[in-house]
Amino acid sequence: MKSRTDEPRLYLKPGHDRPVRRHHPWVFSGAMGRMEGSVEDGGLVEVFTFEGEWLARGYLNRRSQILVRLLTWDPVEAVDEAFWRHRLERARHARHALRLEEQTTAYRLVFAESDGLPGLIVDRYNDFLVLQSLTLGIERWKPLLVSLLQELLQPRGIYERSDVDVREKEGLSPQWGILAGEAPPPRLIILENGHRFYVDLLRGHKTGFYLDQRENRLRAARYLIGAGEVLNAFSYTGAFAVYALAAGARYVVNVDTSAEALALAAENLRLNGFGEDRFENIEGDAFEVLRRFHREGRRFDAVILDPPKFASSQAHLNRAARGYKDINLQALRLIRPGGALITFSCSSLVSPELFQKIVFAAAEDAGREVQILEKLSQSPDHPIRVTFPESEYLKGLICRVW
Ligand code: SAH
Repeated sequence: MKSRTDEPRLYLKPGHDRPVRRHHPWVFSGAMGRMEGSVEDGGLVEVFTFEGEWLARGYLNRRSQILVRLLTWDPVEAVDEAFWRHRLERARHARHALRLEEQTTAYRLVFAESDGLPGLIVDRYNDFLVLQSLTLGIERWKPLLVSLLQELLQPRGIYERSDVDVREKEGLSPQWGILAGEAPPPRLIILENGHRFYVDLLRGHKTGFYLDQRENRLRAARYLIGAGEVLNAFSYTGAFAVYALAAGARYVVNVDTSAEALALAAENLRLNGFGEDRFENIEGDAFEVLRRFHREGRRFDAVILDPPKFASSQAHLNRAARGYKDINLQALRLIRPGGALITFSCSSLVSPELFQKIVFAAAEDAGREVQILEKLSQSPDHPIRVTFPESEYLKGLICRVW
């Protein structure tokens, strides 16, 4: 092994050491002073202050705005096989400690930076793992990570779903396919809090299912006990609808632009014992459908809003805020007095405070009184690392509307 003095070194510009010292896991390209030694993109670098004090160690990619993703702040911790094994074991241990297994067979095993494994996502669906590699650094270690996952978890198969746009920023093209073991069936049935869901690992959104909403579905269900009509906007494959009907709601209307997602929603509802008399699926733009319902005088006892990310960069934040406000306004107008609004934003750029202000502004415009009953976040298999505020992305409010 090379001694540490031979490793390529990156010296920060003067005064750029503070985020690194505070264990933020990213070094932006603007913070780079000079490099010593040569290293290929994706390789490891030692990060120093301008003055030459060692700070941390991570992997580099000059093509990305995020120049270095930091892996360790411990000078004696080498980034080798033992390092990756230890981090994966830690993530596995943390998930085991959540005691999900009896009622839930799908959860996030590795949540990237939050688990000290920048750029790596691993989700478990029954006996299969789905891996997402988001960075060049992880690409380099992928074969080792796959063999460690096989050794530690003995899955039936590991499937790759690195088909996400953010890879472009790393100079990577999309990739998918079998990495190890058996190919997953085109569809499998997972268990979540005792409910059953078909998941399409090969073509579904994200790695197949919105695992981050698991706890929120339970929390929402408590407010849907005995509800008459529930509107589930941005329904995807109907997960909230299943929880709503299981809680004793009479009828659910799912709205989504994706016909494929709605087809699977119908199957999921049937799989859990709910027939066509209990639900309706509407393929369409939620913004338009909710406006139409208002014109038609159609009203609901609860509305669930779980839209996709409206803001992917600071530049789009204003537009996103207008989108969130509009959809919440449209929802509020449809809710019977005393009913519930269960509303989410998964844009990390929209802070919980901003989201609450947006809902407040929508309530004002709708002329409705809104009480917040619960504030929601992402499920605990998607931990928020305190030194990495960007890892807090999902927020929700359960409101009573008068
Ligand atoms: N609530 C779902 C996840 C929702 S993800 C769950 O618990 O599984 C967001 C969904 O919004 C996607 O299914 C996407 O197809 C849908 N979508 C995106 N834009 C939309 C629009 N304008 N109107 C309706 N649905 C939309």
